[in-house]
Amino acid sequence: MPAPHKPVEIREFAEPDLPTGGALLRTAFSEVCGTDVHLWHGRLSGVPYPIIPGHVTTGTLDKARGPLADVTGAPLREGDRLAFFDVHRTCGRCLACTVHRTPTRCPSRRVYGITDSATEGLFGGWSQKVYLEPGVIVAKLPDAVTFESYIGGGCGLLTSVHIIDRARITMGDTVVVQGAGAVGMSTAALARRAGAGQVIVIGAPADRLALSRDMGADAVIDIEKTTPEERLESVLALTGGIGADVVVEAAGSPRAFEEGVRLARNGGAYVIAGHYTNAGDSTINAHEHINRKHLDIRGCWGSESAHFLRALRLLERYGGEVPWARIGARTYGLRDINDALGAAAELSIPKALVDPWR
Ligand SMILES: [Zn+2]
Ligand SMILES: [Zn+2]
Repeated sequence: MPAPHKPVEIREFAEPDLPTGGALLRTAFSEVCGTDVHLWHGRLSGVPYPIIPGHVTTGTLDKARGPLADVTGAPLREGDRLAFFDVHRTCGRCLACTVHRTPTRCPSRRVYGITDSATEGLFGGWSQKVYLEPGVIVAKLPDAVTFESYIGGGCGLLTSVHIIDRARITMGDTVVVQGAGAVGMSTAALARRAGAGQVIVIGAPADRLALSRDMGADAVIDIEKTTPEERLESVLALTGGIGADVVVEAAGSPRAFEEGVRLARNGGAYVIAGHYTNAGDSTINAHEHINRKHLDIRGCWGSESAHFLRALRLLERYGGEVPWARIGARTYGLRDINDALGAAAELSIPKALVDPWR
């Protein structure tokens, strides 16, 4: 991706000389997610274009220099099926890393596919091979987890594991998820497995709502066929007039926030995860919707390695019943990558996958 708003180009790079502890991954799949669309639209600050996008990626170990182990200490061999945590550097010393315990806010944080220039090497998954620098957190894919289900979950699943932490769902809670994209669908799946008594997804279009049901939603509300007032009425009707215990915003719209504070019950919680880029201001009445309501509003930024590793366990345990692979609706080669970005920008499919060997 040479610059924002420019077509993505195919470039060739020399195979890197691996330092001790470094490795090369032969890419099986990467993905196009909302972040890549934001990168393409130039909506994330400080991005060192040109970049190789693709932050969540899976494949096989192609080559390693020196003995290499996964995060559990198990030795890795060439040909092993791997995934790696896309955040490859945090400093471990700053206020965020140590005192506040919010490593996703470390100012030195580096993320594959986003914060590394292509001039520094193969730091993105829209590439036949990806450089795994020493210290990258690597895990073997469990035998039961296919490349397709891992990448179908992809970054949205990691985000959802974090959302569930932030949501602190109590068994029996009603959870409303705003947004039927990759994050919203995985959040519906995990909220149900976290003990929610009822999961309601608000989104569109119809095929994503149908997939949301298959992922775990008990009820869906089509945002294109309803007004905000009608959606509030529906949620109140489904909760005995009380409102949702937990609302999760996975839509990225300032209007969603204005609506979400109304959908939550008194003393409920609202997790904001969809505003990954600045979509503009929301207007709410602090008295009515936060103070008097005693509402707990929590942000959710990025993921930590624990979310990555727990996502693998969840794919292993629930991959048979939750159709994560179906989120990855279509696979594109590098020659079609601009079509993939276009499809992601138009939201015409839930997620485009990238197979750089196609
Ligand atoms: Zn730090
Ligand atoms: Zn992503």
